Amino acid sequence: MNINSERLWNRIHKLSEIGKDENGGVTRLSFTETERKAKDLVVTFMKDAGLAVREDEIGNLIGRKEGAIFNSQVVMTGSHIDSVISGGNFDGPAGVLSAIEALQTMNEKGIVTESPLEVIVFTDEEGARFSTGMLGSLSAAGKLSKEELYSAKDKNGVTIAEAMKQAGLDPELAPNAKRNPEEIKAYVELHIEQGKVLENADASVGIVTGIVGVDWYRVTLKGEAGHAGTTPMGLRKDPLAAAARIISYGEEMARNEKSAVVTVGQIEVKPGGINIIPGEVAFSFDIRDINKENMNDIFEKLKAYIETTCEERGIELEIEQLHSLDPSPCSERIMKKMEESFTETEVQSIKLISGAGHDAMVMASITDMGMIFIRSKDGISHNPKEWSDQKDLAMGAEVLFTTLVKLAS
Ligand SMILES: [Zn+2]
Repeated sequence: MNINSERLWNRIHKLSEIGKDENGGVTRLSFTETERKAKDLVVTFMKDAGLAVREDEIGNLIGRKEGAIFNSQVVMTGSHIDSVISGGNFDGPAGVLSAIEALQTMNEKGIVTESPLEVIVFTDEEGARFSTGMLGSLSAAGKLSKEELYSAKDKNGVTIAEAMKQAGLDPELAPNAKRNPEEIKAYVELHIEQGKVLENADASVGIVTGIVGVDWYRVTLKGEAGHAGTTPMGLRKDPLAAAARIISYGEEMARNEKSAVVTVGQIEVKPGGINIIPGEVAFSFDIRDINKENMNDIFEKLKAYIETTCEERGIELEIEQLHSLDPSPCSERIMKKMEESFTETEVQSIKLISGAGHDAMVMASITDMGMIFIRSKDGISHNPKEWSDQKDLAMGAEVLFTTLVKLAS
């Protein structure tokens, strides 16, 4: 093995100390002091790896290793270090730290590639603070609207723009984080699988063939608040009872799908009293599939059902799309290099699709993209129990190392 498995494992544990919860997980939200501390630690790892470090206008952290040919396109690799609330220690850091490990190994072995290589740590992949997500990669791809910086708010009413200012960044300059696609040769990301496919196949590492698309919607239902004791059932306009039917319908529908999944993860009830018929309910829908047309079909069916349900109950309705990312196939060229790397490292590989969204899907809109998955214990993620074995992480990093050398040569 070329990479240093112990060093990589130690760095995972060092990073896990920042934003650590009592339950063993981490909470690292974007543009917070905790995130800053985590970035500062990663900067020390990058410098230790011999990389030139800079931070761009949206806060993406970039560590660069120069190539032998002047002006050659750059091969990028990375992930994120922000987390969901009470998230795990591997989602994001596994990719960032494996990428640093791969480049450090090249430097230590005196490997000079034709193309330069960059490790990129994307800002706010999870969207846990502002319900947005992929801020860093969207900026790099030139796809982040400045409006979003001023409209999306966290639960305390702080906009992304305000949070950026507090973190010492100028939101007006955010568009400058855009990268020129012509200067990028490829983007490769290692990530934990966050599912059970590899575990069930008894495989340490897998090649991702594509990433599902993700659509987020917010549904707001306005009825009429009233006294729970004095309002007869027939005279109610209860938006929560309507929401319950809609959520069940979404689940039923998705159960009959081949690969699509539908989830409601947020719900707010106003005014929220035990003896009050709710007046307003807002909830989310998360729709994912590898096929965009199918995602649209699901939404249309859902919308029709929501409209009928609300009409029957005299409830006002608003549906807003919060976020939309198309499914992204991985590059054939990169998958081939990965297969060669698997053969050379004698690691058995399987192919699988990614059910979770990643920065890689945004990068796929501007360059060739590839992903390597490593096995997740029990498929658990976004949870303090999230776990990947040292051996699996090392194998993934080794395949990443070999693939990057091939892509940059
Ligand atoms: Zn992630």
